[in-house]
Amino acid sequence: MRIGLAANRLHHDAPDSALFRLLREIEPRLRDTLRPTLLIVGRTCDAIEREGLLAGYESIERLPYGREGGLMRLVARAVDPDPEAAIDMAIYLIDPTDPSSTFPEAVALKRQCIIHGKPFVSTLLGAREWFELRAVAAGAAPDPALDPLFEFDSQSIALVAHDARKQEMIELVRAHFELFDRFASRVATGTTGGLLNGLARELRPDRKQPWVHALKSGPLGGDAQIAELLLDGACQRVLFLEDPHVARQHEADIQLLERAARTVGDRVACYGDLVTARAWLGDLRRRAPTPPER
Ligand code: PGA
Repeated sequence: MRIGLAANRLHHDAPDSALFRLLREIEPRLRDTLRPTLLIVGRTCDAIEREGLLAGYESIERLPYGREGGLMRLVARAVDPDPEAAIDMAIYLIDPTDPSSTFPEAVALKRQCIIHGKPFVSTLLGAREWFELRAVAAGAAPDPALDPLFEFDSQSIALVAHDARKQEMIELVRAHFELFDRFASRVATGTTGGLLNGLARELRPDRKQPWVHALKSGPLGGDAQIAELLLDGACQRVLFLEDPHVARQHEADIQLLERAARTVGDRVACYGDLVTARAWLGDLRRRAPTPPER
């Protein structure tokens, strides 16, 4: 496994910054179970060394500083056809108030990861969850300290699908209905929500309440409504099946939603493409505690 890693300054400017908290937690997983090659952008790499983390870890490829094109090179690695050179996923811990998080290479990294079905993880919670799930899938014992992450009966998930992805969303939810059903609540943008409630009526004809709370349609403000739920701590996961191949009239709203997730990145994880979503759901089946009887 080859992982691209970068973090904005806020996330590595103090000993308890997000990047260091993450690495302290996952370092045993990296060394003992996953053993990935890490492609780390220059300043992030310097900060990790300075903090004394990953000392002696051999599989590190240092990329140039961001100002010298380090993040641009990571985008090229995301699309590289050569598996020896490509990255399999990107972790970019984003500080939404850092202007460099809006540079073209930052936006393109996410977009190309989505196009190529590679996880793009931009929040601390997302990264913690991802490494735990991957480690357990690779045979490691679950870390009980992380059980609260997977207590979905006290959490909410947001479901959004652009038009070209709506059918995929329906099929995904159909295939993993029990898992989605474990969440205390579900919210969705308007049209996506209507379709999912139709699916739920088919699968659970006795259910009286709508299965998912349908907000406004995305272009009419639904993304902004979900963003506020994230900021309020009322929603912890976002599954957003994006269409990266069309011009989106409400691009600003989409970015607002992502920005909100990163503003509260220690308690929200987002997944943005079907391949990643399937992997996430498959791994959750192994890791998440057995649901209580309903
Ligand atoms: P919709 O919104 O579910 O209302 O279609 C999603 C979107 O297109 O942003």
